Amino acid sequence: MALQRLLVSRIVHNQAMHSSQTLEFTLDWQHPYGALGTAFYTRVQPTPLSHVHWVARNNALAEELGWPVHLWESETLLAALSGNAVLPGSQPVASVYSGHQFGVWAGQLGDGRAMSLGLLDTALGPQEFQLKGAGKTPYSRMGDGRAVLRSSIREFLCSEAMHGLGIPTTRALCLTGSPDRVLREETETAAVVTRVAPSFLRFGHLQHFAAHGDTPPLQQLVDHCIAKHFPDLLSVTTGPQRYTALLARITRLTAELLAKWQSVGFCHGVMNTDNMSLLGLTIDYGPFQFLDGFDPAHICNHSDHQGRYAFARQPQVAYWNLFCLGQALLPLIEDQDMAVAALETFKADYPMLADQAFAAKLGLEGTQPGDHGLIDALLKLLAVEKTDFPIFWRRLSHATGMLAAQAPAQAFDKVRDLFMQHQAWDNWLPSYVLRLQGQDLISTGLRMLQINPKYVLRNHLGEQAIQQAKIGDFSGVADLLKVLQSPFDEHPAFEQFAGFPPDWASSISISCSS
Ligand code: AMP
Ligand code: MG
Repeated sequence: MALQRLLVSRIVHNQAMHSSQTLEFTLDWQHPYGALGTAFYTRVQPTPLSHVHWVARNNALAEELGWPVHLWESETLLAALSGNAVLPGSQPVASVYSGHQFGVWAGQLGDGRAMSLGLLDTALGPQEFQLKGAGKTPYSRMGDGRAVLRSSIREFLCSEAMHGLGIPTTRALCLTGSPDRVLREETETAAVVTRVAPSFLRFGHLQHFAAHGDTPPLQQLVDHCIAKHFPDLLSVTTGPQRYTALLARITRLTAELLAKWQSVGFCHGVMNTDNMSLLGLTIDYGPFQFLDGFDPAHICNHSDHQGRYAFARQPQVAYWNLFCLGQALLPLIEDQDMAVAALETFKADYPMLADQAFAAKLGLEGTQPGDHGLIDALLKLLAVEKTDFPIFWRRLSHATGMLAAQAPAQAFDKVRDLFMQHQAWDNWLPSYVLRLQGQDLISTGLRMLQINPKYVLRNHLGEQAIQQAKIGDFSGVADLLKVLQSPFDEHPAFEQFAGFPPDWASSISISCSS
């Protein structure tokens, strides 16, 4: 595609005069599916919204992409990222995928309200830009192609919160809003999130072609995915071995992702196979929740009546989803035993990675045979009283650092206060203190403070920002964005975001409706 220029009119303010300057910024859009044909997507046009305005802009991501800050001043950009204009050179497309929803084959789904504007070369490498909520596509089925402000704020903030925590995720560049009405359980207003990722390919993309028994396009798409996202696998010689290596790689990335989710108390809420990224990214933020009190049985999605996606079940569900992916790749792998062997690695990798993640949260150096038991006993202890998960780990980090100068009884008193039944904590603590013997406790404590966040996007924090935004005050979104982008830092001005959840937090009901 030809190089296109985005002209940005900018009002320059200085002491004596106002002048207008036009700045140029080049966007060279490429097609996300390259030379692949139209079996994979349909060209679409966004549907405009009225009176669009910015709700939130992510300067940190713009900077990471290498975009100049003045770009936000462009009316053209506001229009383009609200779906009211198409930038020169961009050819929006919606892609087709299928998937299992709640364990049942749902057939064709596809980008019902997401559309890809194209790929851009950025300082982060090639990135695909997607609008979510910019209108109907051929895959909208019964839906309106829209996203509401409430759920868009949640997706915008959580994408960046996850990134701040060091968890692989699709990113969110900005959020625009409109007074146009969108009907959900009640009437809400429309919003559009601009999402950014190297690729939005899902397990469901491959399942789609496998389900139709359509091996040539399946192979084309898988080859495209390998060439663009796993080029090191090109050195694996034969086709079936290469596809097996791909399955093993995605299995590993998914195990790594799940270990990270579990260790930070993140509940995704809708782990359908169409919401699983081929790159091991967290994707499609809907009814997600960061645990307040630690409850392994917690179900964050009020539409999940069976608790299929309860917090503690997530690793098992990921494994189930990977099996669906393995089945989709079978026509290319050709040998069922090879596919199963690749998938089986999850069974050893996930527990190992989860133990490593929790050992790091405890500040443990090296590995010792008793570590798993120590972690397991602690998680059981937290589950009994549903102890506040983020606050427990943060207080533990401070306490461990203080152990350098204080006896355990003093150092850990604020952690002990979190338990109603002190005995269970008093029984566990000595084995932890013993395990820390020989470590430099000051540096251990400091390291733990960089692993156990002070700030997570608890439901009630998102909810407060949403209520403010609904009456036109977007400062809560901006404040949360700032804090969640560096969640291990202290941010003294935002101490209120680090406290216990209020009583009303437990009555927040988050369903699939978005
Ligand atoms: P989700 O549960 O958000 O992962 O969505 C599942 C499927 O429904 C995907 O194909 C979405 O594109 C589609 N979908 C969800 N909400 C809407 C909507 N409001 N309009 C059109 N399609 C939608
Ligand atoms: Mg989805």
